[in-house]
Amino acid sequence: MTTTGTASLDRYRKRWSWEKATFGTHCLNCLATCPYRVFSADGKVLFEEPAAVFDQVEAGVPDMNPMSCQKGSAWSVQLTAPDRLLHPLRRVGERGSGEWEEISWDEALGEAADAIVEAIDLEGPESVVFEETVEGGLLTQAPYLRFAGLIGAVTLDANGLINDFPAGHHITFGKFSCASSVDDTFHTELILIWHSNPSYTSIPYAHYITEARYHGSRVVCIAPDYSPSSLMGDTYVPIKASTDAAFALSMCQVILEEGLEKTDFLRSQTDFPLLVIASTRRFLRANDVVSGGKEDQFYWWDEVANALTEAPRGTLDPEAVRPALSGKFSVTLVDGTTVEVVPVAELMRERLQEYVPERASEICGVNPSVIRELAREASRKRTKIIEGFNTPKYYHGDLMERAMCLFLAVTGNWGVPGTGIQGLALAGLDGYMLFGMKQKPGVAETIRVMEGIEGAIASIGSQDPEASDEMVGYELLQRGLLSGTASPPAFFHFYHCGYKETWNRAEWSDPTMKRSFEDYVNDAVRRGWWGGLVKPGPSTDPQVLFIVATNPIRRQRGGSDTLLQNLWPKLEKVIVVDTRMSATALQADIVLPAAMQYERINLQYAITHSFRVGFSDQAVQPQGEARSEWQIFRALSEKVQERAAAQGVNEYLDGRRQPRRLDNLASAFTLNGAYESEEAVVDQWLRDSIEAGTLPEDGTLQSLREKGTTRFSGLGMFAPGLSLAANVEPDKTVTAFQWHVEDFVPFPTLTHRAQFLIDHPWFQEADEDLPRHKDTPKMGGDYPLLLTSGHSRWTVHAVSMGNPTLSGTHRGEPLAIVSAEDARSRGISDGDLIKVRNDRGSYEIRAKVAPRVRPGQVIVYNGWEPHMFSDWKGPNEVEPGMVKWLHLVSRYGHLRYLPFGWQPVPADRAVFVEVAKV
Ligand code: SF4
Repeated sequence: MTTTGTASLDRYRKRWSWEKATFGTHCLNCLATCPYRVFSADGKVLFEEPAAVFDQVEAGVPDMNPMSCQKGSAWSVQLTAPDRLLHPLRRVGERGSGEWEEISWDEALGEAADAIVEAIDLEGPESVVFEETVEGGLLTQAPYLRFAGLIGAVTLDANGLINDFPAGHHITFGKFSCASSVDDTFHTELILIWHSNPSYTSIPYAHYITEARYHGSRVVCIAPDYSPSSLMGDTYVPIKASTDAAFALSMCQVILEEGLEKTDFLRSQTDFPLLVIASTRRFLRANDVVSGGKEDQFYWWDEVANALTEAPRGTLDPEAVRPALSGKFSVTLVDGTTVEVVPVAELMRERLQEYVPERASEICGVNPSVIRELAREASRKRTKIIEGFNTPKYYHGDLMERAMCLFLAVTGNWGVPGTGIQGLALAGLDGYMLFGMKQKPGVAETIRVMEGIEGAIASIGSQDPEASDEMVGYELLQRGLLSGTASPPAFFHFYHCGYKETWNRAEWSDPTMKRSFEDYVNDAVRRGWWGGLVKPGPSTDPQVLFIVATNPIRRQRGGSDTLLQNLWPKLEKVIVVDTRMSATALQADIVLPAAMQYERINLQYAITHSFRVGFSDQAVQPQGEARSEWQIFRALSEKVQERAAAQGVNEYLDGRRQPRRLDNLASAFTLNGAYESEEAVVDQWLRDSIEAGTLPEDGTLQSLREKGTTRFSGLGMFAPGLSLAANVEPDKTVTAFQWHVEDFVPFPTLTHRAQFLIDHPWFQEADEDLPRHKDTPKMGGDYPLLLTSGHSRWTVHAVSMGNPTLSGTHRGEPLAIVSAEDARSRGISDGDLIKVRNDRGSYEIRAKVAPRVRPGQVIVYNGWEPHMFSDWKGPNEVEPGMVKWLHLVSRYGHLRYLPFGWQPVPADRAVFVEVAKV
């Protein structure tokens, strides 16, 4: 070999030489836990590669290897990317001017601490507000949640900010995390990729769709555009954007019309047999029928005994009873009057007549024959809907989801392998849940806390012996809410951020509203539906805003200018903790640099998709002066305690008029020194999860360092883990809702069944007591084009936007995908700069002309940072961020606030715009 050849070989060998290999993952809101091998030398990460460490779970079902995506495979590039934050910064010019000075950690924390102490003293602790995040993993979230909890601050519910909340699932099932493990997809016979684009957004999991197809499953993609995921399917069903409810209801109509419905499934699992008073459309309740009867005891008509019979609350098994699914019956009420009652199924049949395929086709644009054929096919096949988080972002996304759930119900498609709906996928990690309840470290304390919880569960359960463990778990969560920090952010935005005027605009709202949005808010608050959760209240001015690992100025529905013009002037201090200089960090007063994955230890939040722990070890020291969030908030606790002592603010009352102290804040944060390091915290979470049964014995920190991951061994004792309602077996994929179907465990809804009739007066007022289609309100104004979105191929939100390697894989600038026809009629060519505008605002973006988009639709994928647009104005300028008024309903059975769950959320998809060449 020549000298040159040897030198090049040496260079190559050196390139791939390392000193240390650790496990890492990325702890993003990608809903994945991909284990990577991270190779480092001389204190630098050299490269990473997917670690194929998963065992096969079920014989015949492909394993999950390799789980990875291009963002994760280029993660290490971001550690030293130009946008990386390396030092604490203080603003020296106007907010947003980009003028900064580097300061010491001591100065930065001192300034933050002074602002917090002052805010507590002047306005109370609820004037200190944190934006919750789902980025960064559990060791990003836990520190600020712990700190906020100790001082009595407010944390704005993350799902109310990012609207990943599948409201239609919650309305139907009483829960919103309904996803089986992704390998369960292999058991499917008919896959409907619906309102999702997994080839972009679920890269580590999408192979199961292909593998299921090779295994014999048919794959159908239902989307308005010929999306990249359409290529995975056998059939593409083009549908007019936001008409999915009409399409789903039409398939339901066909199934009922042709007698293809799974009758026993509907009788057992759903509210179809429950009786409704025909004149009021209200469920017949025991207190209607007998004096002193229960408000939540419902009835059906037993066809065997031909008699009114109480529907059991403690089981879904009708046993010897044969509940009627049709007919009209007379019932004498407690006041002696006689009323006509009908099963919900009768009302549903009537509703579905509005969606016979020929009529539905006029709404959704799908040929009636396609509707009929797909309906028939689903009625005889194990069918799964692969849904993403697109639907929740539509104004009437709840109606679409309720219709999809109805479609699964009439075809008997949940609770058995290969069925159900893949949406939100939160699992339980009990050690994390127990963390804040422990008064000291160690397993003995864990056992004491768990015994206390079991006692509370037993006590709640004894008040309602027919409640399932899951229902009791939700009740337990509810009882802890008022002493917590969480608040649905819609109220914060309404009272403090200038959204009232926008949300009151009738022309952008649901035209069936009879009153202004403000009227509904006032009514809901007056009725106490959100009592104790509206924080900070209208009379408390927010003083300090903490933003940790999230980016509201990029993402805020309703335009970043709404926040900057209305909220920012009220704030004494804006403090951002992040790894990179985001659009939000640019608007801060103090910026604190955080360590990235690979520079600190971390756990991804528990996800049912992989059903495995996502573990990320520290491979190298953080760049510059960056610190982990645990270190930051531990140090801030010490600083607040110090500054509070100096200013004499040691005691105060929190928002519930309960006394709080700041003179023990530092020791409370670390539990008297037990949690000085994040390693100790992770170790405790894992040990406690083993104790609680959510992790196997090899779920220790040491074992994770050696193996990279472990599979969960149970659902744990808390909701949302229990909401999966599935057996966890070492050699079987995990199938959501198995307990409901196999063991007849009731659903946590008002009626204890999958509930399609919501007999709340506001739902009746909206004519949404049953699922239906409604046109998207004219959000943004009366314009001809519908702007839709979705996650881009290249980033997880904005997190990887600054990654030089990834930005080299695409045009490197934001683009709007415009149909060839719309482009032609407007004189727009590929690559032209265009203006997207409506009555809310405008921005400029490069056009990508593509035949895959239907005329009338424009797609702008999500995640571009404002600085990538001229004038720093991006897509949120044209998104009014309207909130569906109906979601202000609360205290109706299962429609009540839960963290990450039921609450009003803003819509950002399907706004109306016009585009023109600049
Ligand atoms: S970014 Fe998410 S999906 Fe991609 S490799 Fe990392 S964990 Fe997996």
